Amino acid sequence: MAAFCKGRYRFKRVLFLKTQIRTLTGKFDYDLVVVGGGSGGLACSKEAAQLGKNVAVLDYVDPSPKGTKWGLGGTCVNVGCIPKKLMHQSALLGTAVKDARKYGWNIPTPIFHDWPTMAEAVQNHVRSLNWGHRVQLQDKKVKYLNLKGSLVDEHTVRGVSKAGKETVLTAGNIVIATGMRPKYPVDVPGAMEHGITSDDLFWLKESPGKTLVIGASYVALECAGFLTGIGLDTTIMVRSIALRGFDQQMAGLVTDSMGSYGTRFHWGCVPKKVEKLPSGSLQVTWEDTGSRCERKDTFDTVLWAVGRAAEIKDLNLEKVGVAFRKDSGKIILADNEATSVPNIYAIGDLGEGRPELTPVAIKAGKLLARRLFGASSELMNYKNYPTTVFTPLEYGCVGLSEEEAERLHGKDGIEVYHAFYKPLEFSVAERDASQCYIKVVCLRAGDQPILGLHFTGPNAGEVTQGFALGFQCGATYRHLQSTVGIHPTCAEELTKLNITKRSGLDATVTGC
Ligand SMILES: Cc1cc2nc3c(=O)[nH]c(=O)nc-3n(C[C@H](O)[C@H](O)[C@H](O)COP(=O)(O)OP(=O)(O)OC[C@H]3O[C@@H](n4cnc5c(N)ncnc54)[C@H](O)[C@@H]3O)c2cc1C
Repeated sequence: MAAFCKGRYRFKRVLFLKTQIRTLTGKFDYDLVVVGGGSGGLACSKEAAQLGKNVAVLDYVDPSPKGTKWGLGGTCVNVGCIPKKLMHQSALLGTAVKDARKYGWNIPTPIFHDWPTMAEAVQNHVRSLNWGHRVQLQDKKVKYLNLKGSLVDEHTVRGVSKAGKETVLTAGNIVIATGMRPKYPVDVPGAMEHGITSDDLFWLKESPGKTLVIGASYVALECAGFLTGIGLDTTIMVRSIALRGFDQQMAGLVTDSMGSYGTRFHWGCVPKKVEKLPSGSLQVTWEDTGSRCERKDTFDTVLWAVGRAAEIKDLNLEKVGVAFRKDSGKIILADNEATSVPNIYAIGDLGEGRPELTPVAIKAGKLLARRLFGASSELMNYKNYPTTVFTPLEYGCVGLSEEEAERLHGKDGIEVYHAFYKPLEFSVAERDASQCYIKVVCLRAGDQPILGLHFTGPNAGEVTQGFALGFQCGATYRHLQSTVGIHPTCAEELTKLNITKRSGLDATVTGC
């Protein structure tokens, strides 16, 4: 207690002195202090340092309720994109091994997947990225502080170490980039006590076994997808629809394809409670909203993927006057990432209306640094970003969903070109291709500017990334038609689209 009071006294004294210095000299410890060392925060701090500024970045990870913790780099590196994509790759390899037999490889049976081997390899790679980020910060002369940051005023940040030691940092500008964390439901007894989230899944040392994934966001589907792919008994519980916000025809194809890969779906179901049985299994009780019946099943792991909340609880936003949405915690931002308080900006997932994607956070962070410290006035374009859902059959898209295009331009104002195609590599492997589909939504008039492009199939991320450039440049259906394909690829099918939905003709591609 005495040590705490001494520390608090010291903090208040330093704060007072630094405020005096700031008022008298107009000088700060740093040109920029970034709170949060994830995708957005690291990009912003490195860019500012490259522009010759004196920068500090604070990053601090609160362990998950299960006690999982990780290093520098934020969600993407530690508990998001990177471990997810590697585990997805592990699952794809399982399918490839099965295909390989048809391609002449003599593979002894049975084959099985070893979770600890995969987890160790993935976790080691993540640790190497943590280290790489530290080295990069050092090389670029960004001061990295493993402190939990909170705002004191528009020029001051308080940092607290794991041991409780407080530090005062003053800065000309402050950027908040603290991201989001997975939520647990508040009304399901046993949910937090017995369940895990994506913050834990990638760091499990042992296989999660028979798993129930609750939720239908892309995070839920991706996790269920790779768990199924590595051979685990996996069920998804969905209250209403899957992939809300995405094109719903494509969402249907994604979930249908997951079903054909072996994921079980409980549609229209709401979890009621999770209990631990004496055997150690988790018994989940849920209500089937259609039949109004109560049902139960047992699982080894219950994974909640029911949304994420902005990580603002320790930031002291209210006291400093930074406006945020009371329901979601998302910070309200102007087009230039400015908050309601001068000199305080926010980037990344926790910005209201910002797409929750790593490349978006990175670009927004870099552009903000260039506007603050370079000669740039370029704003982040939050429209037209491509994305991919890494389910066993991947789904990539850029631009509007068909529903959104129809809402904006009317059914008669759009033309939808589509095709069901069979990837060549599926043929020899005799894989089901019934969900491999391409849809390009265009304006109906003139050269038919493309409004949205949707693709399910192998390597959807790679395919979509390429077409996203054309999309960004204002591609039309005419451009697509005059593009020469690369044969034999799945992406070339986009250049061959000629059947409109309106025509009602069979959209199945035949021949090569
Ligand atoms: C399972 C999963 C899969 C995903 N897959 C993809 C994908 O394939 N592609 C894609 O583009 N995006 C993906 N995302 C989203 C992506 O991870 C995020 O959009 C991105 O990480 C957001 O970056 P950020 O900078 O806003 O926040 P984060 O990367 O979350 O970084 C915030 C950092 O701030 C730290 N912090 C929080 N509070 C404080 C504080 N008070 N003081 C100091 N530090 C603090 C946090 O610990 C964290 O390190 C995925 C997300 C999840 C959960």
